[in-house]
Amino acid sequence: MNAEAGARVDLHLHSTASDGVLSPTALIDAVATAGVTVCALTDHDTVAGLAEAAAAADRHGITLVSGIEVSVGHAGRTLHVVGLGFQPAAPSLLALIDSLAAARAERARDIARRLDRRGMPGSDMLGDLAGATVVTRTHFAREMVRRGLVADPGQAFKRWLGKGAPGYAPAAWPSLETVIAAIGAAGGVAVLAHPLRYTLSAGQRRELAREFRAAGGIAIEVCVGGQNPAQTEVAVGLCLRTGLEGSVGSDCHDPALPWQRPGRLAKLPAAIAAVWGRWQATPAGPASGDTNRDAASA
Ligand code: AMP
Ligand code: MN
Ligand code: MN
Ligand code: MN
Repeated sequence: MNAEAGARVDLHLHSTASDGVLSPTALIDAVATAGVTVCALTDHDTVAGLAEAAAAADRHGITLVSGIEVSVGHAGRTLHVVGLGFQPAAPSLLALIDSLAAARAERARDIARRLDRRGMPGSDMLGDLAGATVVTRTHFAREMVRRGLVADPGQAFKRWLGKGAPGYAPAAWPSLETVIAAIGAAGGVAVLAHPLRYTLSAGQRRELAREFRAAGGIAIEVCVGGQNPAQTEVAVGLCLRTGLEGSVGSDCHDPALPWQRPGRLAKLPAAIAAVWGRWQATPAGPASGDTNRDAASA
């Protein structure tokens, strides 16, 4: 990697190990083609894609940080916490993944039953999803599209799977404290994913950021795929107010979609510490001169 050219960073990406459309290899090929030099594969509740992604990253000579996007139950909501830089075989992480898999399996059956009752063949669809590492609502949505039962995934969420829709089922996700502790015990850092995507008032969002930090959280995603500049400003403010570090991630599920293209992200302001500095060893020092850093960075 060339320190002068700087790094292009993307620390939130999905593959077919969860609900992305590309295999880990094809995804990392696309990420490298996009000029990304430091990335993390952050599939929902699984690390099953990491070994394959690491081999692809090696072939391209880019840095892959271990990653996962963990589902969390907090104050009646589902939050997403991205874990980065952990040891994938650490017992605390494996125990966390086991509990997430159990919660997902139970919820998938619950979703299927609710759909069945409303004349949507949920259990039959679940049967066709038996090969999936984790079953997400996106899997149900794509299955509905494949069977011609809805026009597109957006309609599947609106009519069937989103909160308040007939197929929506709650899940027994682990708590914020449990998840942050497990990531930390595995040697990783916990990042609050896409803070502007939760339905929260400004005050509630600040309180969440404070709670996240108090529980051992390290960073917040500041620059997120599909986010508008005003939202990014709010995330910047959260970081500055709480002293949390900043992360950047496209949340790419499909590189063909323009709003989630890998590595195409706003720059992290110089006043915010870049979470990826700890995985970069450049002569210019951590996280300076990056494509994802504001030029004012000293
Ligand atoms: P799950 O973790 O199983 O609840 O599934 C959540 C995933 O569904 C998210 O990570 C998104 O990728 C996807 N998703 C959520 N809402 C929508 C929506 N309205 N349209 C399309 N995909 C969505
Ligand atoms: Mn997803
Ligand atoms: Mn998410
Ligand atoms: Mn995601």
